[in-house]
Amino acid sequence: MLHKYQCPHCKSEEITCRKWVDCREDVIIDYTTGHIEYGPPQINENEVCGNQVDFICKKCNTPLFYTQLWVHDERDLREYLSHTSEQIERENDEYLEAEAEEHAAKEKYEECQMIDD
Ligand SMILES: [Zn+2]
Repeated sequence: MLHKYQCPHCKSEEITCRKWVDCREDVIIDYTTGHIEYGPPQINENEVCGNQVDFICKKCNTPLFYTQLWVHDERDLREYLSHTSEQIERENDEYLEAEAEEHAAKEKYEECQMIDD
């Protein structure tokens, strides 16, 4: 069973999958006037560029994120939805706080190093 998604930012319950696809437009240049135009986009929907798939909130584009995990594929999505939205929000807050503390500690450490030199 999976838990219902709720965006921690806007509380929307809809997820959208964002794919980076190969899109080409012919460049039409009028060399006399310097006018540049683009032809109709030709999108290759079968080709996802690299591994560039993100699951994001449909309403506010906040990426689905759980502690260290960015949700890129269906396996990640299942892992994400195996937690309740309250759990995700709480653990993300703790994770980001710990990250910030670690960052501050590291900066302080580096400052001390500089003074020592
Ligand atoms: Zn949202």
